[in-house]
This record gives sequence, structure tokens and C-alpha cells, in this order.
Amino acid sequence: MPNADTSLLTELGKKLVAGSLNDAALMNATDDTPNIAILPWANVVKIGGQSIMDRGRSAVGPLVDEIVGNLRKHKMILGTGAGTRARHIYSLAIDLGLPTGVLTVLGTAVAWQNAQMLQYLLARHGIAFLEPESFPSLPHYLMERGAVICQGMPPYKLWESNPAVGRIPPQRTDTGCFLIAEVYGARKMIYVKDEDGLYTADPKKDAKAKHIPRISLQELLERDQDDLVVERAVLDLMLTARHIREIQFVNGLRPGHLSAALDGKPVGTVIYNAAFKGATQ
Ligand code: ADP
Ligand code: MG
Repeated sequence: MPNADTSLLTELGKKLVAGSLNDAALMNATDDTPNIAILPWANVVKIGGQSIMDRGRSAVGPLVDEIVGNLRKHKMILGTGAGTRARHIYSLAIDLGLPTGVLTVLGTAVAWQNAQMLQYLLARHGIAFLEPESFPSLPHYLMERGAVICQGMPPYKLWESNPAVGRIPPQRTDTGCFLIAEVYGARKMIYVKDEDGLYTADPKKDAKAKHIPRISLQELLERDQDDLVVERAVLDLMLTARHIREIQFVNGLRPGHLSAALDGKPVGTVIYNAAFKGATQ
């Protein structure tokens, strides 16, 4: 705004219009106002793809009943994972020489399929499926019906960045759900999978793996485990999160565990940011 009248601007406004967006001190000043929690009563619940949806009726049926049982008590944004069909299509696309951005388009379609199935199962309770373009209506649906369904992938699609190693999209459905929880300042981020939470190793491969009920993000990063129950991208995003201080993992094959987590009980595993500098909720 050269030569423009800047008298109506705040101090920050004056600096921002004239300054450089690479200026560290100026960037620091942009954090002086609080980040408001837009939907502080919303709980983001990710329903695992391979761990839950791919198991079909035996896993999804009781979980749907548990979700219905919570509709009047807790507001839930239900995001779906992709799972085994995504892994199949990733292998095909890699065989054909296609890049990460294209794999992301394909994986998003699979998470979308799972979201569709979940929505038809919950339709009789008035639960809607929303694409990101419809998210402005999300608060209304949550207020009216208690839950909405979305697919869990972040909407990067072709714009997904390459992983440091390999070609699988690094930011998948755990990440997409986390980002929804963070931007809305949600009350909780709960992952529903098929294990009791985080272990010292993958419990499906190592019978001696020990359950970890609660661990700081910093300690977990330091441990540098070979395998995790959550996408590594989520842990990186937690470091700069302003709202989501902790994430919880519950076993969706155990009746009552999702409800307990929604009620604030320490079931499963909680990973918390010991150096959290965000808003207090
Ligand atoms: P989703 O169904 O949400 O995509 P994933 O299959 O990607 O879930 O991740 C859940 C799986 O992660 C579990 O079924 C478990 O076998 C595996 N896993 C790997 N490492 C660990 C670990 N350290 N602790 C717990 N589970 C782990
Ligand atoms: Mg996964």
C-alpha cells in the first residue's frame, strides 16, 4: 500500500503492510492475540481404515452403536481412514511410476468410500457427510444432530509434498483429522484403532511389546521407535499446535472405550505435548 493512509491500521497492521513476511520479529508479533477455539466442544474422532472399517460388520457394527449412544452427550466430527484398499492402489500406482501427489488423490478416494459407508449406516440418525467445501455448515450439523462425517485425508491431493523417504503420501488420514481438530480448537482428538493404544513396538509383530498408557510427545520423539500407532506427521504438527495439547488412542474393538475417552477418562494411550505453548482451553 505505498502512499496509502495507514492511520486506521493497528500497530501490527502498519508493520505488516510495510514490512517483510520473512522478518522474524514481525512474525513473532503476529502471535500477540489469542487463537480462539472455534468449536471448543467438538470432538474429532478418527475411525481407523485398516484397523476398523476393513474388518466390516463385526467391528463397525458395535462402534456405530456406540457412536449413536453418544450423539446426545458429545459432539463428534467423525473422520475415516483409508486402509487396505489404499495400500493396494498405492502399490499399483507405484508400479506404474506415478508420483506422491497422484497417490494422494487415489488414497483420498478410498477414505471417501469409507466415509460414504459410515454415513449410510448413520443416515437414519440424521448424520450428514460433508466435504471440506461444506465445512461452513459443520457447526450447524453438529448442533442439530450431534455428529458429522468427513473423509480423513487432508485436501492436498496433487499438492501433497513428497516424503523424505519413499513415495507414500506422508500426510494421510491421522493427519487430516488432527488438522481439523487443531483449526477448530476441538475439545479432543481421539483415534479409534484396533489396539489398546501405543506400545513400545507393533504389538502385532512383537509379543513382548509393552503398552504405554501416557507419554510426552518429546519423550516419544526421542525414543525414535521403528513403528508407531500414528502417522509421524501428526507428531511433527503437535509441536506447533496452538489448541491440541494431547491426542488419545483407543481400541474400537473394545466396547465402551470410545465412550470412556469422550467422557474424559484415561483409557488407551494419551500422547501429550509437555512443551505446549498454545491457548489454554
Ligand atoms: P488406521 O486403521 O487408522 O489406518 P493403522 O493401521 O495405520 O491405522 O495403524 C494402526 C496399527 O498400527 C495397529 O493396528 C498396530 O498394528 C500398528 N502399530 C505399529 N506400531 C505400533 C505401536 N508402536 N503401538 C501400537 N500399534 C502399532
Ligand atoms: Mg493408517
